[in-house]
Amino acid sequence: MASVVKKKLILLVVDSFHPHALKRSLERKMMPALEYIINRGYFTDRCVSVFPTMTPTCASSIATGTLPSQHQIPGFVWYSRREKRMINYGMTLWVVLKLGARRVIQDLLFNLNQNQLSSKVKTIYETLEQGGFSTGAVNPFIFRAGREHSTKIPLSLGVASIFKLGGPVWGPESLFLGKILPPSGFKSKLLTNWHYYRKYGVNDEYSGLVTEWLISGGRQPDMLSVYLPDTDGYAHHHDPSRTELSLKRVDRQLQKIMNCFGSWAEALQKNMFIITGDHSQSLVQNSGDHMVNLTEIFGEFSLAKLDEQAGDGDIAVCINERMCHIYFLNQAGHLPGEVLKVAGAAPGIDQIAWKENGWYKVVRGSMAGEVSFRPGSGYSDEYGQNWDIRGDPGVLDISLFQGKMAYGDYPDALNRLQGFLDCAQAGDMVLTARPGYEFTDKYSPSHQGCGSHGSLFWEDSLVPLVISDQDYAPQRPRLQDIAGIIRCYFGLPR
Ligand SMILES: [Zn+2]
Repeated sequence: MASVVKKKLILLVVDSFHPHALKRSLERKMMPALEYIINRGYFTDRCVSVFPTMTPTCASSIATGTLPSQHQIPGFVWYSRREKRMINYGMTLWVVLKLGARRVIQDLLFNLNQNQLSSKVKTIYETLEQGGFSTGAVNPFIFRAGREHSTKIPLSLGVASIFKLGGPVWGPESLFLGKILPPSGFKSKLLTNWHYYRKYGVNDEYSGLVTEWLISGGRQPDMLSVYLPDTDGYAHHHDPSRTELSLKRVDRQLQKIMNCFGSWAEALQKNMFIITGDHSQSLVQNSGDHMVNLTEIFGEFSLAKLDEQAGDGDIAVCINERMCHIYFLNQAGHLPGEVLKVAGAAPGIDQIAWKENGWYKVVRGSMAGEVSFRPGSGYSDEYGQNWDIRGDPGVLDISLFQGKMAYGDYPDALNRLQGFLDCAQAGDMVLTARPGYEFTDKYSPSHQGCGSHGSLFWEDSLVPLVISDQDYAPQRPRLQDIAGIIRCYFGLPR
């Protein structure tokens, strides 16, 4: 079966890939390898990410080709109704200290892939390996597949817990997760390289080193995905549209990969490259007024606590930077109205959305306008999706004309909101922050004057997409289409 494939495929995912930063990097000739591919392939700077624009959700969509309504990962921080507890994959050091490294690692490394990612969807690793192709992943968030690997949690992480950490994970044939799961044949050389130790090996240089080792040693699987995490941290400490120095490091990894071949031309003859981001980031204003403390704002309610089985709270407030879930834990009928009233009066709110009687409702912050929508026949959008719309579409910056509709600042907003609100694990109500604002509380990071993400807003949502082979160019690029492109490339059903 594998013989139908003329080339191998390499997928590179850059965390927080801002199109404007890429544009500047290209203008200043800081990304020669990427520029080489762009000049010969397909390129867009308007690939639409999923909502919320948070890495676990986006990575799940890249790996499965589905929205949260199907893959069931609604963010970085969320509330599990099944387990009656908050899930937090380690947003800040405070969270790790409060919950203990054991629980955070257990959720991030084991539960995210094995229990929380829906068993009804298949990852690209699962479908390709079932189709007879070999797959691999370097430092991925989402990696579920059939091969058992035993992990070893570094002592410095494990020591924070009195419990013994570690155990098997199930992933593709070639799976590498920083220091937790290093390549055994390469480990002795890695021990003298400080990138192996930095952030436990979850960094761009380490991802590049392991990929280079795989390819140059003749171990390259048919499909290899490589995650490059560092630009996210850089953007959270700078203007996110000015991450050229970090993108230069991204290009250095791509150069390492392409230099494994006789020439860059040969690298493209032997591989199809797909390079994209999971989401982008937008700038939070450098003023305390733009930091909206939602725990204080909802202080009149009984709130579920981060570290407790939260049966006794009325609502759970799960902050994801510029987006926030509100879960109604108590069936009291007055709660939604009361929460809406408080949220509607809060500063810095862009949209408040929820489901009601078969409609998806969205209210603008300060209660200035309301729109309802559902799949129907009233208006068709650029993706060929059809919607019934009532009320003020300006709430989502949508313009309507003669049975058609166009998105403005919130690309693919209706499909993305539906794909979120239909997720059984998502909040009953969701809030987004206005451009320049961020939601915060004791356990959430503050990015005042720097980059943040999570919302529907275009600058959190649009990422570059580069495909070295024009034949696989999508018409209307969206992140959830990438898995289908990969399956199609290997001759499998989308
Ligand atoms: Zn981030």
